[in-house]
Amino acid sequence: MPRYPDTFYARTAETDAARPALDGAIEAEICIVGAGLAGLSCAYELARAGRSVVVLEAQAVGWGASGRNGGFVGPGYARGYASIAAAIGEDAARRLFDLSIEGMGFVADAIRDLGIAGARPVHGKISALRYDGAEALKRNQERLARDHGYAVSFMPTEEVRAVLRSQKYHQALHDPQSFHIHPLNYARALAAGVEALGGRIFEGSQVVSAALDGAQKRLATAGGTISCRHVVFAAGGYTDRLVPRLRMSQLPIATYVLTTEVAPELIGSVIRTRCAISDNRRAGDYYRLVEDGQRLLWGGRITTRTAEPRDLAALLRRTMISTYPELAPLKIEMAWSGLMSYARHLMPQIGTLGPGIWHCLGFGGHGLNTTAIGGRVVAEGILGTSERYRLFAPFGLNWNGGPFGVAAVQATYWYLQLNDWLKERKAA
Ligand SMILES: Cc1cc2nc3c(=O)[nH]c(=O)nc-3n(C[C@H](O)[C@H](O)[C@H](O)COP(=O)(O)OP(=O)(O)OC[C@H]3O[C@@H](n4cnc5c(N)ncnc54)[C@H](O)[C@@H]3O)c2cc1C
Repeated sequence: MPRYPDTFYARTAETDAARPALDGAIEAEICIVGAGLAGLSCAYELARAGRSVVVLEAQAVGWGASGRNGGFVGPGYARGYASIAAAIGEDAARRLFDLSIEGMGFVADAIRDLGIAGARPVHGKISALRYDGAEALKRNQERLARDHGYAVSFMPTEEVRAVLRSQKYHQALHDPQSFHIHPLNYARALAAGVEALGGRIFEGSQVVSAALDGAQKRLATAGGTISCRHVVFAAGGYTDRLVPRLRMSQLPIATYVLTTEVAPELIGSVIRTRCAISDNRRAGDYYRLVEDGQRLLWGGRITTRTAEPRDLAALLRRTMISTYPELAPLKIEMAWSGLMSYARHLMPQIGTLGPGIWHCLGFGGHGLNTTAIGGRVVAEGILGTSERYRLFAPFGLNWNGGPFGVAAVQATYWYLQLNDWLKERKAA
């Protein structure tokens, strides 16, 4: 069986060897469940501090959302700033936003320190409006500069349409600090970085039981057991029923990505930038040129239907062509889906379930910066060097609402989509 699902990233990844499964009984100070970017970032911080850390991964490093995503690394969370501030106050919201910027720095520093050439970082992100809204964008620009010292520039409609040749777009913010990467190469190199520091990673090692009472925890896979003082659950949208409370606080949400054939001239005729691009809709499009402008990687749509639809490529292609009709002749080479973990409050779920039992999940569609910071603050909590993980305490493990929660999320999504559509129609 192939180690990874067939994605553009798997096809273009640097080679790395499969790791063995856990076999027999071992001990470690800390065991992390899940080798996505949340688990790996936490392991990296702990290994850097000289701690004994083991990561158990059901499939392969970066097999989940972390190795399939759009690759955008930018500030913020899945939940918008104004809504976070309304829930927890301006001061706390500002501190959380600063942490999210620190998360970008974590990724950039890891790429530099570990020499991850395969991450292929490219700077710049354009966040464009699909309706006229200059004032709101300028207010956001001012807030970022005033409260976070984070500079972005305003692009009027003519400037946006000069680089994104679509009448769908209006004004935009250009963020020169955000960047985009090859996420699977990044995840694999981070894993290698953990191992170089003495951490151990086992693949094909799904944790099937967890005895969490008492000071010493015991986790079991089909082939082995591990005894440890701390456990970190970091299984993202693939969280299973191992710890029912975690599963019941999760809403796995699917999103889709496609890549096109090689056609630099056609693609470059409508997308004249190497920046990552996204729009302001709740489940908007996100896309970027890859392989030095040869191909287009296009992502979009979110759904509570977690099974991959057969017509996935056609669905996404329709959204691409509705923005750029000129791309109609462009052939789609591959399409895939991945699961994100969402809480109903749309914020990361970072904290403890009891002494030595940590959880680090719920990063939604904004996980490349937030998994980094989630991993770091959990590691600091274990090391006793900070209690920054408590900043996330207002957003706990609330119940996902069961089937009604899933239906409510899908209904909310359709409602937001309808609002976006109405706004766009008014702007047209
Ligand atoms: C298609 C797509 C596009 C996205 N685009 C972006 C983007 O451009 N920018 C951005 O910031 N975010 C994006 N995201 C979100 C981002 O990828 C995620 O938030 C982030 O990768 C989550 O990381 P994670 O470590 O929490 O989970 P994952 O990467 O999903 O890792 C969880 C791991 O846990 C393992 N696991 C599960 N159960 C067990 C068990 N019992 N025992 C052992 N292992 C287990 C799984 O096999 C999996 O490998 C996107 C997501 C998707 C799906």
